[in-house]
Amino acid sequence: MILVVGGAGYIGSHLVEELVKTNEVVVLDNLSTGHQRAIDTRAVFVKGDLGNEADLEAVFGSYPIKAVMHFAANSLVGESVVDPLKYYENNVASTLTLLKVMMKYDVKNFIFSSTAATYGIPDVDIISEDSPTVPINPYGQSKLMVENILADFAHAYDLRYVVLRYFNAAGASASGRIGEMHDPETHLIPIILQHLLGQREQISVFGDDYETPDGTCIRDYIHVTDLANAHIAALESLLNGQNKAATYNLGNGLGYSVKEVIDMCEKVTGRKANVVMADRRAGDPARLVASADKVHEALGWKAERDLEKIIASAWAWHQSIE
Ligand code: UDP
Repeated sequence: MILVVGGAGYIGSHLVEELVKTNEVVVLDNLSTGHQRAIDTRAVFVKGDLGNEADLEAVFGSYPIKAVMHFAANSLVGESVVDPLKYYENNVASTLTLLKVMMKYDVKNFIFSSTAATYGIPDVDIISEDSPTVPINPYGQSKLMVENILADFAHAYDLRYVVLRYFNAAGASASGRIGEMHDPETHLIPIILQHLLGQREQISVFGDDYETPDGTCIRDYIHVTDLANAHIAALESLLNGQNKAATYNLGNGLGYSVKEVIDMCEKVTGRKANVVMADRRAGDPARLVASADKVHEALGWKAERDLEKIIASAWAWHQSIE
């Protein structure tokens, strides 16, 4: 059985929907930001807290877990700057508790959701996994701390792990059942689409004086189902012994500015946005674009859905829940 911690969240629920096709799955989630109805009904659901040893013992004592996939984290750059305690507690301390219980139950396969925020302000246009990791916000710092813990556990306790550094996850499942639903929403694509559905007055662009061609921040957007499939390839590489300790970027390898994303949303929806310029948001690097060559070479995975498809799937989802 595969344990998915945080399987009720946005990325976790999309992973579970794919994973249940070929595996038995148990989801542990405290529903602090996730939604129980997002969990595929073919998975077993246990409500519990990652930082609570008793909750973890209940799961590991009840199910024959052979691998853990860990999605349960706080992931907002801006929030991490104003509330770092929350990030170090939930993202680092709780993960340590999870790893401790895993070692106790001799569960040694681990897939960890990390982030492009570990790179800080990269000095290259296309970021590869050996680019320096110098986070500029507590969110990125918290993920990098766990990456370092994993390396030490691999060395000392024979933990086998794959770290997946996500760039910007977006889009919704083709099933029409799940999509991106944060409350409050802070992410660019859902905010634009909510605005285009009349649910928001306007879109604020956080800074147009960055050193990029149009002055707005550039990100590498990746479809959440592509992300899910990368996790499944990574899991297989651990279970078949191909990987022991690996770190991969997950992105499309293409950068789009905030303005370009807004333009694409207008194109996909056929609607016109009301855009206003606003101050920069704390903790935002100007440009984050992945090289995803390493994961392609190692696991044969590459993103299949481009920005237009990402936005089209998100648009279908947002219209369906309107
Ligand atoms: N952004 C923006 N307006 C918004 C939300 C986001 O201009 O209402 C910008 C944000 O500053 C960043 C990019 O869009 O440059 C992507 O932000 P998001 O929060 O979606 O993802 P992040 O890169 O923080 O993971």
